[in-house]
Amino acid sequence: MLEARKISVNYDEREAVTDVSLRADAGKLIAIIGPNGAGKSTVLRALNGSVSVNRGEVMLDERRIDSYARRAVARQIAVVAQEADLRFPVTVMEFVLGGRYAWSNAWGWETERDIEIARSVLRESALEDFADRLMNELSGGERQRVILARALATEAKILLLDEPTANLDLAHQATMLTLVRARCDRGDTAAVVVTHDVNLAAEFADEVMLLEKGRIVEVGPPREVLTPELLGRVFDLRVLVDAHPISGAPRITPVHERQR
Ligand code: ADP
Repeated sequence: MLEARKISVNYDEREAVTDVSLRADAGKLIAIIGPNGAGKSTVLRALNGSVSVNRGEVMLDERRIDSYARRAVARQIAVVAQEADLRFPVTVMEFVLGGRYAWSNAWGWETERDIEIARSVLRESALEDFADRLMNELSGGERQRVILARALATEAKILLLDEPTANLDLAHQATMLTLVRARCDRGDTAAVVVTHDVNLAAEFADEVMLLEKGRIVEVGPPREVLTPELLGRVFDLRVLVDAHPISGAPRITPVHERQR
């Protein structure tokens, strides 16, 4: 289990995150929303120990995250950041197998089991036909789907995803979060997802954290956080909130100036 206890993060003199607490329990999907610069990515970086906290602490299974070796953290936490390092021409299969690295044997060779896991994740993600394609010859959205597949292939118990659906078409946005949701529903995985898509957060998250200027404005179930008052104030935009006709989840519709 991963927990942030009242963490603050500074870049130089400036505090980017202040007093943020979060518990990513197995089975739970937490969405972090908020305007640009609110500190969402910084919270994710602190959660996987890639930036250090100035106050508070990040605990992984009751031990401070900075007391683990990087590889031990990588076995437990898979991160999908905004951009992947693609300097070398690798195939989709090779890239997804790279997700098994934290588990690899002393020689760095993949085992039969690694290959089996990579194949099954590619199947789940509807990417089988891409296995032999080169990563740098895919569209942005296709590449993003492969990057998530690699994170799923790690079998890490904690997934930290930074805008995983940003370049995806409507169908693939839903598929992506359905895959993450399914991992959480299996009961052994927790996911923290930074997203600009409040409707996807409403549909898929157990808990939504709304950040503004580095602080938590509200955190709780989608219907308690995704209200016209809170969203209107934080995003400085009029929004309507009703219920999705099928799922019943809050449905957020912005009202633009010319519609008023
Ligand atoms: P969000 O993900 O919500 O858009 P970020 O966590 O990226 O916000 O950024 C929070 C604040 O920290 C912003 O003011 C941003 O300019 C600043 N910031 C982010 N990364 C760095 C960095 N590497 N160095 C200095 N300031 C940064």
